[in-house]
Amino acid sequence: MTLQERTKKVRREALRLGFDACGFARARRLEDEERRLEEWLSQDRHGTMHWMENHFDKRVDPTKLVPGSKTVVSVLGSYYHPDHKEQMQQDGVARISKYAQGRDYHKVFKKKLKQLFRFTEDLLGGLEGRFFVDSAPVLDKAWAQRAGLGWIGKNSNLLNPGLGSFFFIGEMIVDAEFTYSNLQTDHCGTCTRCIDACPTAAIYEPYRVDASKCISYFTIELREQIPEAYRQQIGEWMYGCDICQDVCPWNRKAKFGQLEDLHPRAWVVDKDIDYWKELAPEQYDALFEGSAVRRAKFEKFKKNAAIVARNLGENDGMIK
Ligand code: SF4
Ligand code: SF4
Repeated sequence: MTLQERTKKVRREALRLGFDACGFARARRLEDEERRLEEWLSQDRHGTMHWMENHFDKRVDPTKLVPGSKTVVSVLGSYYHPDHKEQMQQDGVARISKYAQGRDYHKVFKKKLKQLFRFTEDLLGGLEGRFFVDSAPVLDKAWAQRAGLGWIGKNSNLLNPGLGSFFFIGEMIVDAEFTYSNLQTDHCGTCTRCIDACPTAAIYEPYRVDASKCISYFTIELREQIPEAYRQQIGEWMYGCDICQDVCPWNRKAKFGQLEDLHPRAWVVDKDIDYWKELAPEQYDALFEGSAVRRAKFEKFKKNAAIVARNLGENDGMIK
């Protein structure tokens, strides 16, 4: 079997499993990203996410993370759904980021990547490597870009011409060779919509996001109180923030995803702020079973809801 044939077969299997795109890049040290990551960390753009400083060498070099690896196979799985279009038209509602409205993507991707790994192993008569979804120090957007699956936009998300940016990225880092994809060109052009729309000015220059000022960080990662100065800017966002993606013209014409598990769960998206601000721990557990929202613990989620209630003009004095 030629390299072209094996590449075609693995890509076809990835699409059959429900992924929306699959690309191949040669595993090697990411020198540009290494410089940028070093600078970004030294400027404390990662806030209190100190775990991002760990495993620096493995993060910028997949051959250190998976010794003997030759290829990074990247896959994309869109979570974009027609209901999201409707949600974007609504004003004055409490919001949960689109990616977190369905089943936890880690679970969904892990299962599918395992199947893709086994398929490749059988096809080649043996395969060494590992697969990941947000679960190891891997610069997944950089690898997906190198695998020809899109370009990194000014909002620092990977943009794919057909899929926009509402997708998850997973990868297999393996010891087999494939034919490698061509890089896509940057199609952001003169657009600055994401930069202009960001409420906290977290996109401090094109292609650079200060995570420590991002609403996603405030509402998910930050264990301390959200600083008073940022509470109003959080607006309607109880968990995550999609603003810099919602305004992106490439998302306006994006295709919808096919992985049903990632579709928005009706029992999550049909609630209003009155419900969220009265939420009890057992309701939180039941509603968000198997959901990425559990990354923010109940107390945190509840405090976020109180901030959003205040921003929506329903101050009940719950913010402590
Ligand atoms: S996710 Fe929200 S806060 Fe973060 S950079 Fe984008 S628009 Fe700004
Ligand atoms: S909004 Fe414009 S500048 Fe920002 S990522 Fe999309 S195309 Fe690029």
